[in-house]
Amino acid sequence: MEMRSVPEMFGENVFDDRVMRAVLKADVYQSLRKTIDEGAKLDNNVAYSVANAMREWALSKGATHYTHWFQPLTGVTAEKHDSFIEPSPDGGVIMNFSGKELIQGEPDASSFPSGGIRATFEARGYTTWDPTSYAFIKDKTLCIPTAFCSYGGEALDKKTPLLRSMEALNKQALRILRLFGNDTAKYVHTSVGPEQEYFLITKEMYDKRPDIQYTGRTLFGAKAPKGQEMDDHYFGVIKPRVQEFMNDLNQELWKLGILAKTEHNEVAPAQHELAPIYSSTNLATDQNQLMMEIMQKVAARHGLVCLLHEKPFEGVNGSGKHNNWSMSTDTGSNLLSPGETPYENAQFLLFLCAVIKAVDDYQDLLRLSVATAGNDHRLGANEAPPAIISIFLGDELSAILEAIENDAPYEGKEKKIMKLGVDVLPRFARDTTDRNRTSPFAFTGNKFEFRSLGSSNSIACANMMLNSAVAESLKIYADRLEGSENFEQDLHAMIKKTIKDHKRILFNGNGYDDAWVKEATEVRGLANYPTTPDCMPHLLDEKNVAMLTAHKVFTVAELNSRAEIMLENYSKTVLIEANTMLEMSRRLILPAIEAYANKLAGSVSAKKAVSPASACLYESDVIAKLSDLADKVYVGANALEKTIKEASEAGDIVNESMFIKDNVIPAMNEIRKAADEAETYVAKDCWPIPSYGDLLFSVK
Ligand code: ADP
Ligand code: MG
Repeated sequence: MEMRSVPEMFGENVFDDRVMRAVLKADVYQSLRKTIDEGAKLDNNVAYSVANAMREWALSKGATHYTHWFQPLTGVTAEKHDSFIEPSPDGGVIMNFSGKELIQGEPDASSFPSGGIRATFEARGYTTWDPTSYAFIKDKTLCIPTAFCSYGGEALDKKTPLLRSMEALNKQALRILRLFGNDTAKYVHTSVGPEQEYFLITKEMYDKRPDIQYTGRTLFGAKAPKGQEMDDHYFGVIKPRVQEFMNDLNQELWKLGILAKTEHNEVAPAQHELAPIYSSTNLATDQNQLMMEIMQKVAARHGLVCLLHEKPFEGVNGSGKHNNWSMSTDTGSNLLSPGETPYENAQFLLFLCAVIKAVDDYQDLLRLSVATAGNDHRLGANEAPPAIISIFLGDELSAILEAIENDAPYEGKEKKIMKLGVDVLPRFARDTTDRNRTSPFAFTGNKFEFRSLGSSNSIACANMMLNSAVAESLKIYADRLEGSENFEQDLHAMIKKTIKDHKRILFNGNGYDDAWVKEATEVRGLANYPTTPDCMPHLLDEKNVAMLTAHKVFTVAELNSRAEIMLENYSKTVLIEANTMLEMSRRLILPAIEAYANKLAGSVSAKKAVSPASACLYESDVIAKLSDLADKVYVGANALEKTIKEASEAGDIVNESMFIKDNVIPAMNEIRKAADEAETYVAKDCWPIPSYGDLLFSVK
């Protein structure tokens, strides 16, 4: 453990603003800052100067290689390392890195998913430096955050559309601010603080579990006698070994300039959470990817394995990610914070309404932005928000909106009808708590918390949809208000109309309740897409394509390719699980059942030899039971094998993923049921894989 103070080590491996200010010439720094803050076009000479400074800085930190670090559609980050060395005329080497190498790279893109955008003969793809996210050093390698696109300029990554969505929101939000007389704000950006959940198990247990190794989750395992029913893990005392891991992790993250702040035990045994302090969405996205990677590396150093899968254990709470999101100006004013003056409050209500309208109009986009095979196990399973998107505002704010909608007096302190732009919004208590954890999208005082994300999701997907949808609401408002003859009146009318049109999305009740599903779908007409194959095709619905292309977040070709890639990811994930299950059934589970039954049969013969009249009740009952269960596993495995084959003949990817959902997954469930029951009859030392008890309570 290092003894240096946190401020000393914080950000030491990051080419951040402090370093840039110190090592760049003043004009270069100013120019780069303009690019970072306001999206001004980057001057090539500036890039060349930055590259020189970056090289010197990286070499002084002992770096030997550099890489363009990017986020292809596989969902994880990619890097290809090049060393700085270049031959020098005297036969030696010099350490070189030029502006050209900083700005652009050309990885062989042919093996990254492109969803048909890039014909194979055109394997080239480009990575381009994203100056808005800081370069950093990891394992002696200078990592340069980059965007990744095809030769034709189509985005092949998650960063590009995210940056475009931030730009779209910036543009529309500024229009609104100008209408409210704000002429000073230069830009509006969105901030995110992602809370990350994860499990820790020992490496020893992991090594004995092919399912976790291949798929990240358990495909077999009977319930442990103790789970989370006592609620004794949540915020409980952190075990020493976990505490050591967390200390080490914090240090690594701090060195990388990641503001790791809170850590605690989560609901399930072996489950924990880490939350950083929020930052600009682009930076937060890169840092969350980095954080997930570092968590796994640090865990390995402690003989542990960090599981980021959404549902590693059946019957035990899975892991998610809470995306705390807000919009603010460069001058630091949070647009989702109620203000002090009537104008500020009217502005707050308009931004609030923009989000309400966005979430209602684009429920499907938000839903599909968090859809993966892993997250399908969580959403709607009474441990995470339902697959139905709705907004929690809290009672007080809801009452205010209702009063505005009905021109009714608000039953606050003053009891008067509010005319926006004239009256100050009554002071209401901020609902900053997590009291309603069942809502997928909750207002928590000055930010929204989107809680449906899976623990392994890149937060880029959710935020690009959220930013775009809100940009669209703001655009509609700005279009209307810019030409208005009577601003206050039209503003009031528009807020009222939004509340009227979109109040169906507001729900403060219990999202886990079955009655809610009925009400949401049958009465309110909200979308309910329980699985990835159900929702993903809606990415290509006309209204969604129109909105996303209008704001230049995606091209039509990019949307087509993404829908395809996401469904392909789904199918591949489930098929890998199915094949793992098949192999484990035939080569581990069935032989273990058989061996144990055989052992019992041997014991029957031995007993009868000594006492011919003995009933051998235990043995014969268990043998009969195991024989029946073994047959079920065997028949189930054959059926699973058949559906796996059929899946490949199901047609296009939409049909294939549907087929997999409707046939492969149920076939897997059948096998699991029988195998898990068999586990409860077989002696512990005869069962081939560690039990749930072993896994969940392995870290002492
Ligand atoms: P909790 O959700 O447990 O009440 P907090 O609200 O303090 O905890 O913070 C949760 C996360 O939200 C943290 O990552 C925090 O930095 C982030 N956060 C706080 N304020 C904002 C904001 N205005 N915009 C975005 N994220 C925020
Ligand atoms: Mg929270």
